[in-house]
Amino acid sequence: MMDLTIRTLDATRTITGETLTAFRGRLRGVAALPGEDGYEAARTIWNAMIDRRPALVVRCLGAADVIEAVKLAREENLLVAVRAGGHNIAGAAVCDDGLLIDLSLMKSVRIDPASRTARVEPGATLADFDHEAQAFGLATPLGINSTTGVAGLTLGGGFGWTTRKFGLTIDNLLSADVVTANGAFVRASETEHPDLFWALRGGGGNFGVVTSFEFRLHPLGPQVLSGLVVHPFEEAATLLREFRRITDEAPDELVVWAVMRKAPPLPFLPAEWHGREVLIFAACYAGDMAEGEKATRPLRALGKPIADVISPHPFVGWQTAFDPLLTPGARNYWKSHDFADLSDAAIDVIVRAVGALPSPECEVFIAHVGGAMARVAPDATAWANRQAHFIMNAHTRWRDKSEDATCVAWARGFYEASAPFAAGSVYVNFMPEDESGRVENAYGANYRRLAEIKLRYDPDNRFRMNQNIQPTGG
Ligand SMILES: Cc1cc2nc3c(=O)[nH]c(=O)nc-3n(C[C@H](O)[C@H](O)[C@H](O)COP(=O)(O)OP(=O)(O)OC[C@H]3O[C@@H](n4cnc5c(N)ncnc54)[C@H](O)[C@@H]3O)c2cc1C
Repeated sequence: MMDLTIRTLDATRTITGETLTAFRGRLRGVAALPGEDGYEAARTIWNAMIDRRPALVVRCLGAADVIEAVKLAREENLLVAVRAGGHNIAGAAVCDDGLLIDLSLMKSVRIDPASRTARVEPGATLADFDHEAQAFGLATPLGINSTTGVAGLTLGGGFGWTTRKFGLTIDNLLSADVVTANGAFVRASETEHPDLFWALRGGGGNFGVVTSFEFRLHPLGPQVLSGLVVHPFEEAATLLREFRRITDEAPDELVVWAVMRKAPPLPFLPAEWHGREVLIFAACYAGDMAEGEKATRPLRALGKPIADVISPHPFVGWQTAFDPLLTPGARNYWKSHDFADLSDAAIDVIVRAVGALPSPECEVFIAHVGGAMARVAPDATAWANRQAHFIMNAHTRWRDKSEDATCVAWARGFYEASAPFAAGSVYVNFMPEDESGRVENAYGANYRRLAEIKLRYDPDNRFRMNQNIQPTGG
């Protein structure tokens, strides 16, 4: 086998063919070089803006492969990226010229219905998780697009349709198996490596490679009251004020998101609305159907909707409802703010921005959070932004590279215009790659403790391909 030139943390080096052959022999999975089987699949991620070429890809099949890969990285001082579901907008899951640790083949999900817990490998998607858990009428809060990876979502915090009822994804994490930067395998929980466990719950991929997650599950479904109410965008200024009132008064079971975009050709929308701006309320009630009917009544009584398709749906189906709008392969750039509350001035800025969307696939969504998430102390986990009531994301999405500058400029302009009304914090999982200066804001008062834990578990900052926390001592 040929020698391999590969990027280190500060330069490049050559790994001999002999070292590489021996390394391959220690794996259950495969180590792929450019052009070899599996290389393209491992390096291709959801956001087509990211087109990076690692020197070596390790397609792990278990913790043993991860340990081997991390040890190789340490011995050869390699730049490392860690990829799970490959959904992160920033694209840090892939590096140029370094070592890619690919976890996407590790997809097992094991449900224990008696203890209501799940054991999940890091390559599992939300669809994999929900499929297994719903076979037992169980769920844990995850996101709204079923092809997202459980691993990255969890490590950044994780919220979705059941967060107000059951908390963030991390609030339901019981333990994690982690390969740390020195190649050691540890279990992190409230009682084992508790600092590491604290940091993993929101601190992203900064602290090691998680090879297994253990979650608490809750009874839910198989049907939930859920669906969309679609309105003409001309009514948005009034309806968003009503949205504010309804979300203020909502029980924990009810989550309502406001999504603003040009209408996709959904079968239940009259053809004359396709391609025109609409305001969509997407709602899910995580509880009793009759109670849900009552709780969603004020929302459904608003204005004169173009369509109202709220009804009982299988939870697994509802979890995939937005998939067709969020397929991989498009160019994407996001800008996000947390809001403690939606002021009239914020609503005016949002309405103006949606009136000037730069491409047919762009959308602005305002996710409704709070409830159980807000009842956990801000310093109980690394996720500090417990008081956010809304998480807004300007989700800019287009196909043609020639539109990059226009689309990115629209997102940045909207972000700047809405900043004065926002809470100042941000969800790390919604930050694009050019926001490294915002990481401290994202963690607020928790940043200092995260930096100290980083120093203990990853003093060389081996795991730097992420929203990076610099290792610094107290
Ligand atoms: C269309 C879409 C919809 C989304 N909706 C939601 C939503 O509703 N709610 C929500 O909370 N989030 C949502 N997200 C954000 C999502 O949580 C993040 O993009 C998340 O990082 C995706 O995880 P992944 O495993 O797919 O990503 P990857 O890109 O594979 O990983 C992201 C980063 O996490 C780290 N990482 C991943 N796995 C491991 C591991 N096992 N060990 C150590 N580090 C690791 C790495 O640093 C990596 O760069 C959405 C994203 C997209 C693209």
